[in-house]
Amino acid sequence: MIQEVGPGHVYDNRFSSLEPADADYVLHFTSDGCLARVTHVGRADADAGDAGEEVELPRLGDYTRRPGRTTYLFSLGEDRFFLALDDRVAAPAGFSYESVSWLRRAEPQHLLFAAATGSQLDRWYRGNRFCGRCGAPTELAPASREIVCPECAHIVYPKICPGIICAVTSCDGNDEKIVLTRYAGRTTALWALVAGFTEIGEPLEDTVRREVMEEVGLTVKNLRFYKSQPWSFTDTLLVGFWCEVDGDPTIAVDRTELKEARWFSRADIPLERTGDRASLTGEMIERFRLMGRAAWE
Ligand SMILES: [Zn+2]
Repeated sequence: MIQEVGPGHVYDNRFSSLEPADADYVLHFTSDGCLARVTHVGRADADAGDAGEEVELPRLGDYTRRPGRTTYLFSLGEDRFFLALDDRVAAPAGFSYESVSWLRRAEPQHLLFAAATGSQLDRWYRGNRFCGRCGAPTELAPASREIVCPECAHIVYPKICPGIICAVTSCDGNDEKIVLTRYAGRTTALWALVAGFTEIGEPLEDTVRREVMEEVGLTVKNLRFYKSQPWSFTDTLLVGFWCEVDGDPTIAVDRTELKEARWFSRADIPLERTGDRASLTGEMIERFRLMGRAAWE
């Protein structure tokens, strides 16, 4: 998954007020995306963003005019990442703004994780430059990842929206099936699992039951936590569950949200997710395809 960047790049997000050195990465984002240099190393006919693109992120030494205001974000092994808080920077030679989701399938994976995680932090810093309670300009807290208002003492914590991914299964002897869904309104939507955001006042288990009922009209039982995954593209922390249909397996599709939803036997699960290295959804679908109920037992 996107956060699995290998033992050489262990994620360390302990807060620190470091200053960047020339070899440190200094990320910058605009509405056009992340400042990056992309080199095409694959087949000439490969799709944009397909494996075969190699991405570099800017280091402080790459900037001819250094960003005025930076803050330390995190380290991946020996690599330290900072964020330029300026609205504009002079892009280093060869670098341009690339959509972070477009970069999702490029290499190396630790820089993609850095770009995605940095983009979520950047949205949070930029979206809270003024206090939402009193309107005064805010400040960065000196000793923790918080934004504070000097006028009314309001504290803004990083924005992380919890959401669930849920594999609804039915296992009767050798007949092992899973519900896959496709979102409406997206021309290239892949088959996915039931998913949705947690509402205020709601435990994750109830989010699973509510989303499954809303999207496909099924009652579920035997919920089992699988794994969680930071998904910075949507400011989300995703929590993956397995569960089993309880009673009537007839699907009633929510057409406002989904284009289609249906049961797939293991042998019929589309292979379109087999190469998906990044997402928890892809990992769970592939795990069920290969293992059936042993995926969680
Ligand atoms: Zn305030």
